[in-house]
Amino acid sequence: MNRTPKLIVISGPSGVGKSTICNEILKRLDNVYLSISATTRKPGPGEQNGREYFFIDAEEFEDRIKRDEFYEYAQVFGNYYGTPKSSVEQALSQGKDVILEIDVQGGLQVKNKRPDAKLVFILPPQYDELSRRLGGRGRDKKDIIKQRLYGAEAEIEMARQNYQYLIVNDELEKAVNEVIAVIRGNGK
Ligand code: ADP
Ligand code: 5GP
Repeated sequence: MNRTPKLIVISGPSGVGKSTICNEILKRLDNVYLSISATTRKPGPGEQNGREYFFIDAEEFEDRIKRDEFYEYAQVFGNYYGTPKSSVEQALSQGKDVILEIDVQGGLQVKNKRPDAKLVFILPPQYDELSRRLGGRGRDKKDIIKQRLYGAEAEIEMARQNYQYLIVNDELEKAVNEVIAVIRGNGK
């Protein structure tokens, strides 16, 4: 059966569980491509170049902007983050659904380019839980965690106005199933 491949944006505050949810989806669904972004932030413990991100410097990132190699890009917490255009277009042309795990600024750029993209925002069950998850993940220093928590409120407000699907990641299993329903096209 032929169907148009879907473009799904997954955003949410840092530490809410986006990566965890995306990795579960990849285990459960075939024919889904999770885009790997480029970033100028330094790799955290356990992160590998080409797996979580392509870690590049600002000069290279800016060169790639000039060459129009990003599907979208934004500055988040003082670093550049961007989606490589070629791999996304290749996956879509192969009929795969593509997931972009990007921030709200990026989500809005995608919505402009592809109004049929599905924009999903993941919310924490309550605000305190974000702080707990960011700490528990053990990747960021205290001041970085503060900065990330500060960014969360503005992002949540932007998402309430612009995103079609708001999904609370309280129980992981439930959140994963809700995102899968959106990908399959029977989300609420
Ligand atoms: P993000 O990608 O949004 O920054 P992560 O996927 O890295 O967030 O998750 C941050 C932390 O929260 C991780 O330690 C992860 O195991 C944990 N986590 C994710 N989902 C849940 C959940 N539903 N309940 C409790 N902890 C969770
Ligand atoms: P982190 O440093 O925690 O991995 O990511 C920080 C923020 O950058 C998250 O909100 C994440 O969704 C966002 N992000 C990651 N990759 C991209 C990207 O390619 N484009 C945009 N716009 N945001 C991204």
